[in-house]
Amino acid sequence: MDYQKILNTINDELSYRDVTGKVASYIPELAKVDPRKFGMHVYRGDRQHFSFGDSEELFSIQSISKVFSLSMAMRLMGEDLWDRVDVEPSGDPFNSLSQLEYESGVPRNPFINAGALVISDILVDQLDDPKQELLDFVRKITEDNSINFGPKIAASERSTGYRNVALVNYMKALGNIKCDVEPIVDFYFHLCSLAMSCKQLAQAFMIFANKGKILGTNEEILTPTTVKRINSLMQTCGFYDEAGEFSFEVGLPGKSGVGGGIVAIHPDQYSVAVWSPILNEKGNSELGMKALERLTTLTGLSVF
Ligand code: GLU
Repeated sequence: MDYQKILNTINDELSYRDVTGKVASYIPELAKVDPRKFGMHVYRGDRQHFSFGDSEELFSIQSISKVFSLSMAMRLMGEDLWDRVDVEPSGDPFNSLSQLEYESGVPRNPFINAGALVISDILVDQLDDPKQELLDFVRKITEDNSINFGPKIAASERSTGYRNVALVNYMKALGNIKCDVEPIVDFYFHLCSLAMSCKQLAQAFMIFANKGKILGTNEEILTPTTVKRINSLMQTCGFYDEAGEFSFEVGLPGKSGVGGGIVAIHPDQYSVAVWSPILNEKGNSELGMKALERLTTLTGLSVF
C-alpha cells in the first residue's frame, strides 16, 4: 500500500477553509495559534513513515498527554488503579464535576479532567520528581530527547485553571485524593502543556500499536494487557463526548486534545497523528477527524 500517495490525496482533498469551527480560546496562548496549520504523520511497524504539511511543527498536545500519565500510573499500580478511576464513557464535557458526588469521587474514566487529576495524584504521591519522570518516559518511548513542556501554556493553564483546582478539592473532600492540591495541579498543568509534533506523537504512540514495546529497542514498556486496556479506553473515552462519532466515522482507538491534535492507532499496523487547530463544538479537531476518516477509508484499515 502506498501510504504517501494516500496522504497526498488527503492533503489535496481537505483544507482549513472548508471547516467552520473555532480555535480553542479558553487560554490566551492557544487562541494565538495559526488556524491554517495542518499536518499529518503515519508511522508504521516496519519503521517507515509518511507525512504532509506541518507534521514536524510543535504544538500543545493538551489532553493527548493523559494517555502518557495513565501509562505511567498503570506501570506503578497495575489493576489496583481501577479502584480509584472507573472505565466508562462519561457523556459529559471533559471538565464536568457533575457525576462525581454520587460516585464517591471516583471519576468516570482516566481521560476526563477529574480522572487525569486522580492519575496526577497517584504520580505525585509515588514518584520523587514526577515532572522529570514524565519527560523521561515520553522521551524514551518517542526515542527523542528534545521533548519538553511549553512553559507559556503551563502558566496560562495555571492562571485560568480554577475548575481543575476545584475538581481536586472536591475529590479530596470525597476521599479520592491523597496529596496536597498544589503539587497535583502543578503536575497536571505541565502535563497539558507538553509540546510535540505529529511526527513525535505518531512515533510515541507506536507502543500502543506494538503490544507495549518500543520499536527501536524492542524493550517492553507496557504489558500486552495494559495496552489492551488503554486502547479500549481510547476507543470508548478518547474523544470527549464524541467517542461514538469518532468510532463510527474513523474506527480506530485514539485520543484528541484541544490544541487540535489527534493520535490514533491500528494494532500491529500503524499509528497516525494529525494536527489542525480548528475545533468542532465537542472540542475535537474538525479537519483532523475528516483526515482520519479518509485515512481509514482509503487504506481500508480500521479495527472494525
Ligand atoms: N488543559 C485543559 C483543561 O484541563 C484540558 C485540555 C484538553 O481537554 O485537551 O482544562
